[in-house]
Amino acid sequence: MYDAIIIGAGYAGLSAARQLKRTGKNILVLEARERVGGRIHTQFLNDGNYADIGGQWIGATQNRMYELAREYGIDTFPTYDSGKSSLYAKEKIKLYKGIIPPLPLFALLNLDGAIKKINRLSKTIDLDRPWISPNAAVLDKMTLSEWLDRHLKNEKARQLFTVAAEAIFATDATTISMLHVLFYTKSGKDFDTLMNIKKGAQQDRLKGGAQSIALQMAGELTDCIQFNKAVTHIDQSGETVLAGGDGFSFTAKKIILAVPPAVARKIIFSQELPEQKKLFLHQNFMGSVIKCYAVYPTPFWRQQGKNGLCAAPGQPISVTFDNSPADGNKGILMGFALAESARNLLLLSEQERRKIVLSNFAAYFGTEAASPELYLDKSFTEEPWSMGCYAGMMPVNGWTVSGPAARSITGHIHWAGTETATQWNGYMEGAVRSGERAAAEVRQVI
Ligand SMILES: Cc1cc2nc3c(=O)[nH]c(=O)nc-3n(C[C@H](O)[C@H](O)[C@H](O)COP(=O)(O)OP(=O)(O)OC[C@H]3O[C@@H](n4cnc5c(N)ncnc54)[C@H](O)[C@@H]3O)c2cc1C
Repeated sequence: MYDAIIIGAGYAGLSAARQLKRTGKNILVLEARERVGGRIHTQFLNDGNYADIGGQWIGATQNRMYELAREYGIDTFPTYDSGKSSLYAKEKIKLYKGIIPPLPLFALLNLDGAIKKINRLSKTIDLDRPWISPNAAVLDKMTLSEWLDRHLKNEKARQLFTVAAEAIFATDATTISMLHVLFYTKSGKDFDTLMNIKKGAQQDRLKGGAQSIALQMAGELTDCIQFNKAVTHIDQSGETVLAGGDGFSFTAKKIILAVPPAVARKIIFSQELPEQKKLFLHQNFMGSVIKCYAVYPTPFWRQQGKNGLCAAPGQPISVTFDNSPADGNKGILMGFALAESARNLLLLSEQERRKIVLSNFAAYFGTEAASPELYLDKSFTEEPWSMGCYAGMMPVNGWTVSGPAARSITGHIHWAGTETATQWNGYMEGAVRSGERAAAEVRQVI
């Protein structure tokens, strides 16, 4: 009989487990995979370099992630952004400085105005209870796409906004509620912070990969974690709560469920969850993204004065970054296929995807980009313990209908995971904060 069982060893579950263990609680962590990190997975290459095939960046105001990196002696390094960014449109490259590509004056004003309006509106959102924010019911009935129809009429501006929005949300503007967009924006400070490299969410990378903090956390928990233990049912019919799966069952006073809502849906709860909680688990849906990597002997684009950032509206790979190692001993380009493009590319074989992705890279950075030493791509959509990425999003009538259940405690079950976070919802930072919040809830009652 444990004080608490934590289900899921992603950043949320590990943060919760670490806090409880440090206060002397008898805990058990059950993880379905054979590794920790969840949606964070650092894949090492033969030459000692690595690719973060899940999440990778930390940035401005993500204080818990920086504190954890310092605590475990893990260095960060800035995302490479010296030189010019590229815009690929009408089969031509235009180079520009900064994050917003060159646009005709009216388009630029329209884009700038829309971003400023989103920032202004997002300031009115109540992060703890988005559904009580001013005008919440109206905003929650509207998709981002519908809002853009009214506020971003210039076609070029809209195309570029779509590149940024899909890179931030990993889903189509037609699928997310405007209330969620505003909540998410404020949760990560503002739209500029979500978009930017410097002073933004893409500012820094972790030396050794984004999984390194998770591995250090797991080092503190070696006697408490059990791998390949997918929990399939939870029974809280008595005074205690039982988590069971294929060939195992364990009992505890409390459970912290730290898995994405879409994945929690698959668990059988012996007592039906409250209706609103069931709705939240069903409404919150995962985005779609494929991270595509090409490794070259050198970051050759830097010699062309390019920083590796390319925005390419309407292309299968709509945005790229320089993901080379800190010392530049290799050149690594990383491109995102997002939303509908991701879903379309996932219908193809890896060989077919490789051809399309490298042809995009060559169009953006020259023919040298067509022949990397290594190509790899990864989507978490087909992984049963993630079911998509980057994170769970809210559709129209999501927050106002089931939002109040997002973090509500159900009997002995406490809920963690980045989708339950108020700050940096959808990011590692949000996952850590949610785990620490759930651990504090449990500590109050055991
Ligand atoms: C491609 C991609 C790019 C991203 N980029 C960034 C980025 O640059 N910066 C950033 O901050 N964030 C990024 N993210 C988002 C970030 O990865 C997540 O917000 C964060 O890792 C979520 O952590 P979590 O602990 O809430 O959930 P998860 O990491 O999903 O952890 C849940 C864990 O629970 C386990 N599990 C699931 N079901 C069960 C079960 N039934 N029984 C037992 N165990 C179970 C899973 O195996 C997993 O280990 C990205 C994500 C992806 C996929």
